[in-house]
Amino acid sequence: MTLSATILMWIGVTIALVIGGIITVAIAWRGDPSKGRRRCSRCWYDMSAVSGFRCPECGKVGRDEQALFRTRRFRKGLTMGSVLVLVGAYIGLATSRMGPNRETWTRWIPTTLLVFIAPVERAEQGHELAQAAWRRSRAMWRWQEAIIARREVAATSDEEILGWLRVRNVWPAGVSMPIRLSPEYDKWPLVGPKQVDLRSTDGRGIHLRSAIDSWPTRSIHDPAREPDWNDDGPPVAWEIEIPAMSIGRHTFEFEMTLSGSWGTSRTVTHSVEIVVTDREADVMTAVSSPAIDSLIADALWIVISDRNRDPWLLIHFDDQKIFDSLYRATYVSGKLPEPVLATVVEVVDGDKVLASFRLDWWGSRGLDWPPDLSSLIAAAMDPQTCEWKPEVIERLWVYVRGDLGLAARSVGPSSYWSGEIRMPLVELIERVRQEQKKREAT
Ligand SMILES: [Zn+2]
Repeated sequence: MTLSATILMWIGVTIALVIGGIITVAIAWRGDPSKGRRRCSRCWYDMSAVSGFRCPECGKVGRDEQALFRTRRFRKGLTMGSVLVLVGAYIGLATSRMGPNRETWTRWIPTTLLVFIAPVERAEQGHELAQAAWRRSRAMWRWQEAIIARREVAATSDEEILGWLRVRNVWPAGVSMPIRLSPEYDKWPLVGPKQVDLRSTDGRGIHLRSAIDSWPTRSIHDPAREPDWNDDGPPVAWEIEIPAMSIGRHTFEFEMTLSGSWGTSRTVTHSVEIVVTDREADVMTAVSSPAIDSLIADALWIVISDRNRDPWLLIHFDDQKIFDSLYRATYVSGKLPEPVLATVVEVVDGDKVLASFRLDWWGSRGLDWPPDLSSLIAAAMDPQTCEWKPEVIERLWVYVRGDLGLAARSVGPSSYWSGEIRMPLVELIERVRQEQKKREAT
């Protein structure tokens, strides 16, 4: 049977049981009315020949004359009908777990039981009960989530907790360094809301806090989904920027605390050694190849406009082009693509840099966003008409070069694109304009 046929069958069973149950209850309630017969209200003995209220059969004494004319309702029928309705309703509920959530046999397990028996260990994420708990996590009550969260805190190993601290151990000199907490990084089956705190214990004042949330929101920034047991600590954040450190070895002492519901928590202490070096090759391997150069030249996207006297210049990478290129293979396999495409893009007039953007193709462009266009506007815009001066625009160039500091922010990869390419701005603008036209035409 196909899934929809099976679901249809169970819906049929649900309807049959509920309707059957309601009819049974109705019949049992209607029961056997008195119709003028004088009967004992306990054993239904015919008392028409008996005077007084005492039943000669079972000894029950009726309260008054009216009590002897009660309707006899069928208790077994009432019970049976109610059970049919309840069983039908439960089958309906279980069936509702088949469709969108694609549960099979696990649908028969009530969520309240599931939160106690579903395995929560990392190694068990493929277990059918764990999958079922994960699929139902959106529809769980707060206290059900809390039960899971409590079990998860107990089941999480120290190594896992330490793994959520994401930092590169060798760092380029002169560049600020992000320290990240990424508990969601490889923990998708976890369903209960928890929180990780990272505290430096060596007086550097680092304190990061991150909420672990249920799939599919995966957001660790959404304040609406913050755990209830938040105290008045700093707000949820997942990255902290350490200002550039001196060349040499730096040791950070960390205390990581994973907390769940009702005060459960686990604390692991950890020390991380970070080497700051001016030897770039120690940080990441520099890679430069004509293939990547032409990919970057081709994927760079620029739009320049002064419409409505609002000068702007938009520059980014065409994600799709990069994804469709040599990066596809590595990206699909779930790893970050290498070499890292992290660049500084400059708009240059002779030897003067008019604007500078940090760009990579998975979103670090927010680092200096919105970009500072004031020098570019001062040099290339007519202040009266608020229009770009074509004679200036024509002589501007775009320089793109690999940026180790930006590349190092992606913790996993070990190589980055270190090349440099240059092209006239107008050439780039024209190419993008042509491509846009072609896209609009199709
Ligand atoms: Zn009786």
